[in-house]
Amino acid sequence: MQFIKLLLISTILVSCNNETNIEPLTIYTSRQPQLIEPLLKEYEEKTGIEVRLLSGKAPQLMERIVVEGDKTQADIFMTVDAGVLWQAGEKGIFESIDSSILERNIPQHLRDPNGKWFGLSKRARTIVYSADSVSSRDLSSYEDLAYPLWNNKLCLRTSTKVYNRSLMASMIDSIGYEKTKMIVSGWVNNLATEVFSSDTQVLKAVSAGQCGVTIVNTYYLARLADDPAYSNLRLHWANQENRGTHVNISGAGVTRFSKNKVEAIKLLEWLSSADAQETYAGANKEFPVMPGIKVGELLESWGPFKEDLISVEKLGSLQKDAVLLAQEVGYK
Ligand code: FE
Repeated sequence: MQFIKLLLISTILVSCNNETNIEPLTIYTSRQPQLIEPLLKEYEEKTGIEVRLLSGKAPQLMERIVVEGDKTQADIFMTVDAGVLWQAGEKGIFESIDSSILERNIPQHLRDPNGKWFGLSKRARTIVYSADSVSSRDLSSYEDLAYPLWNNKLCLRTSTKVYNRSLMASMIDSIGYEKTKMIVSGWVNNLATEVFSSDTQVLKAVSAGQCGVTIVNTYYLARLADDPAYSNLRLHWANQENRGTHVNISGAGVTRFSKNKVEAIKLLEWLSSADAQETYAGANKEFPVMPGIKVGELLESWGPFKEDLISVEKLGSLQKDAVLLAQEVGYK
């Protein structure tokens, strides 16, 4: 029965594409469709190749690709956070790709060393504070937020979010497990409230004066930037005196069972190109992975910053350590 259904689907696909004779591409993605649809439309118009999206949560989509195996329609899996991409790689979802275009467009530390997945935008996770109660002169690094100066002034999102696990992973890589444990334990001691379930909630708490300082992905701050209610929020680039601000990625890879790998690679190559990078990163006010691409006025206004150049692949491989560490210090 399942087989017949699949046959039917393939017949429809072929008949839709008599004009180009090229099969459509299907992306399984946890990204919000409205962020990528305009760009994919552009690609369709340029190449005549239809690109279909199947949206959902990353864990379910990964599971679905594993279960579907060689019957999957997924040519590409696209998601956010190197921690998730790494997990998808471990599950055997991706094909290793050898593309000189992807290698040229995407800095080495923002893609998997084995070519399984590639960063398509950068997401900086840094310190945001309230100008009502905090001076930027008092801020420096993620580590400094463990000092008693910030007692009862820190708000954080839950450690169960992959963004914070990846941030802790970057600290473990840089300063070691034990030191990171001391720092995160200091954060927990400094918390002014229970942890929050979203970056937006935690930003609103800072703005409302529940706390003075937090750590968030910058695009969440960007979303509140036009609202005068949150005009007291300010960004501080963390760790400029040492390794730089933590940077993560959104990214994608070609699935192992894609029947259209050549075209799937071409689409990834295009998304990493100068033509697409400004729109891809700009849609969610993220940063392009390709150096030298324009960012919008708001991101420009935050000024240049030094980035942590850790290979994001390590953020994946250290994920388990970060989970353990958070448990050990009671960071919920
Ligand atoms: Fe997010």
